[in-house]
Amino acid sequence: MNIPANRTDRSYRLHGAEYDEAALRVLRSGYLILGPEVKAFESEFAAFHGDDFFCAGLASGLDALWIGMKLLGIGKGDEVIIHANAYIASVMGITLNDATPVFVEPGDDSQLDPDTLENAITPRTKAVVAVHLYGQICDMDKVTEICRKHGLLLIEDCAQAHNACWKGRKAGTFGDIGCFSFYPTKNLGAFGDGGAILSRDPDFIEKVKVFRNYGSGKRYYNEMIGANSRLDELQAALLRVGLKYLDETTEMRRRLADRYSSGIDNPLIIKPAETPGSRAVWHQYVIRCEKRDELIEYLKSRDIGSIIHYPIPPHLQEAYAYLGHKKGDLPFTEKLASTVLSIPFYLGMTDEEQDYVTEALNAFR
Ligand SMILES: *Cc1c(COP(=O)(O)O)cnc(C)c1O
Repeated sequence: MNIPANRTDRSYRLHGAEYDEAALRVLRSGYLILGPEVKAFESEFAAFHGDDFFCAGLASGLDALWIGMKLLGIGKGDEVIIHANAYIASVMGITLNDATPVFVEPGDDSQLDPDTLENAITPRTKAVVAVHLYGQICDMDKVTEICRKHGLLLIEDCAQAHNACWKGRKAGTFGDIGCFSFYPTKNLGAFGDGGAILSRDPDFIEKVKVFRNYGSGKRYYNEMIGANSRLDELQAALLRVGLKYLDETTEMRRRLADRYSSGIDNPLIIKPAETPGSRAVWHQYVIRCEKRDELIEYLKSRDIGSIIHYPIPPHLQEAYAYLGHKKGDLPFTEKLASTVLSIPFYLGMTDEEQDYVTEALNAFR
């Protein structure tokens, strides 16, 4: 059996006829940019999070972070605290605005740790980015309280956490803004690139909509210098199908995670667990193993794919050499980078495929 780490063809096939219909509807309409599908998706995605939310569709998750932070006024001289094991895009959203990322160690659950966060606050701290990694979510009671107490902006990176909850409340609804990616492998995935910003503030969302279209709210009248970062009609129409089934596909992911958690039994492997108080949506199923690199080769010999999320933490990337970090600065983060492994996990994975992976993992010595 050949089992890749991920397969987007399977999620397409779950609702293939509806995706086909949505795509053709757009192609035949002749309306391809900023039309009725984007408008409908924005209001449906906002309503999914609650009656008092607004949404702007964008070209990617990175753009959501970059534009969101820019329009919140984050810039040169500002420090932005982020956990050091986050994805590089979460950090680039900060540095594209010339602000300085301040890396802190994550908690044992790989999420933002309220204690290391609070210890890193200085008079220059302007904002905090909580990256809900792997479909888990951090203690949002503590994080929102710290931000409120110190007057800090809170940005939630929900690129891996669509529909995740903290005490029944959805990821993206706690911060000043929630930033989403619809990259094809995400829990709500397009068939190309896409992203969005969620906020309670309708004026802010209007500003994002102006910025994403060359700073133009009215055609050929430019009120600010903006960018071209539009979610297109085709992706919006396809996302509307995915959104309709998001509760259902979230349950499918939770079932897959439960099956792995009850089936995997090997003292060499640490399994991920749902943080108490949260509902994880299992973007990835990330195990930890001291013999990680041997495990990858072993799985490969059995035709099982795997991915490392992520092998080099941002503070050790060449792009961030100018920050002056060195190996050993963030030992727990670096330890995670050398031990984490995402095993095959995708919608439409069969029990037979999953059992094959589980048995292989249990036989690893
Ligand atoms: C995917 C991802 C992003 C970036 O999204 P793109 O749409 O690929 O630009 C940002 N943050 C996290 C945590 C991600 O997983």
